Amino acid sequence: MKHRLAAAAAALLLLMTAGCGESSAQDDTLHSADIFAMDTYMSLKAYGAGGAEAISEAEARIAALEHTLSVTDSQSDLWALNHAEGCPVTVSADTAQILDTAAQVSDESGGALCISLYPVLQAWGFTTGSYQVPSGAQIAGLLSLADDSKIVRNGTEISVPAGMQLDLGALAKGYTGDCVTGIMRAHGVSSAIISLGGNVQAIGKKPDGSLWRVGITNPMQPEINLGVVEIENKAVITSGNYERYFTDDAGNRYWHILDPADGYPADNGLISVTVIGESGLRCDALSTALYVEGTALAAEHWRRSGDFEMILVTDTGRLLVTEGIAPHFTNQSELPCEVLKREET
Ligand code: AMP
Ligand code: MG
Repeated sequence: MKHRLAAAAAALLLLMTAGCGESSAQDDTLHSADIFAMDTYMSLKAYGAGGAEAISEAEARIAALEHTLSVTDSQSDLWALNHAEGCPVTVSADTAQILDTAAQVSDESGGALCISLYPVLQAWGFTTGSYQVPSGAQIAGLLSLADDSKIVRNGTEISVPAGMQLDLGALAKGYTGDCVTGIMRAHGVSSAIISLGGNVQAIGKKPDGSLWRVGITNPMQPEINLGVVEIENKAVITSGNYERYFTDDAGNRYWHILDPADGYPADNGLISVTVIGESGLRCDALSTALYVEGTALAAEHWRRSGDFEMILVTDTGRLLVTEGIAPHFTNQSELPCEVLKREET
């Protein structure tokens, strides 16, 4: 119905502009692609002129990034870093930029974001899907190798201590989203929406001039929405305990976001964190970091920073929305919505 209305409106616009010399009718043609890359489903939608070229360039860029950032591809930057035995490696500008943001967000979160947890993630089976609960001793041993502050960055020359292994799963999709929206903008696209495994990034508004409406998953019932945020030119990026997890025989659930403090799934009060901001890369890094930080530290982190908003769901059923996004958020859940204020009262 909405599509029919939009089509009727576009037709009316065409009629109104006909006969006025050069036609200024807006081209709202949808160009789209659905792809599977980086272990996730991706949907790209760009409207109007330049959209088709932008989509095909974006697809090639995603394939190239997947190649560069993969931990399992022996030709990738990550493979080179993880097998350099402490020697410096020259990486692509893409990898260097991601590592810069990882270092920044790791610092500002007190180490909650930790890209050097790869051996611990492997022990849990989160990298392969062969899940198991490792022994405490195994976790402790592997965790002793993890310390992002020991990664030395000098432009594109990176040194990782021998034994340490990196994984950029916490921020790769956000960076990829920034690259895709960048390509679209370079092709003159002024209305687009992309979803990379549920991480959404939007350019401009919908072709009908209204804001993009992005559904946020209810972590307690992932098949339904918690609510909807209305945005333009923003990234909306979520980390949740329902995205990748397994359950043991006793019914305990273990999820893919680990706390670098102990190497176990982060269990500091949050089950879902959505970050809304300009940069997909930063929002993606933050979504993982804030999840690990937990409710109180995440709120403090937000108050210290001025460049993102967030929607938190706690394991006790609290829904917390920061004041900058609250007016643009519609709560569709049973949970009462509390607004986090910048000035604590
Ligand atoms: P996200 O869905 O963006 O929160 O990213 C989760 C992914 O980041 C996991 O699947 C792991 O590959 C990786 N990861 C898990 N815990 C951490 C952590 N504390 N810091 C950085 N990366 C992590
Ligand atoms: Mg993330």
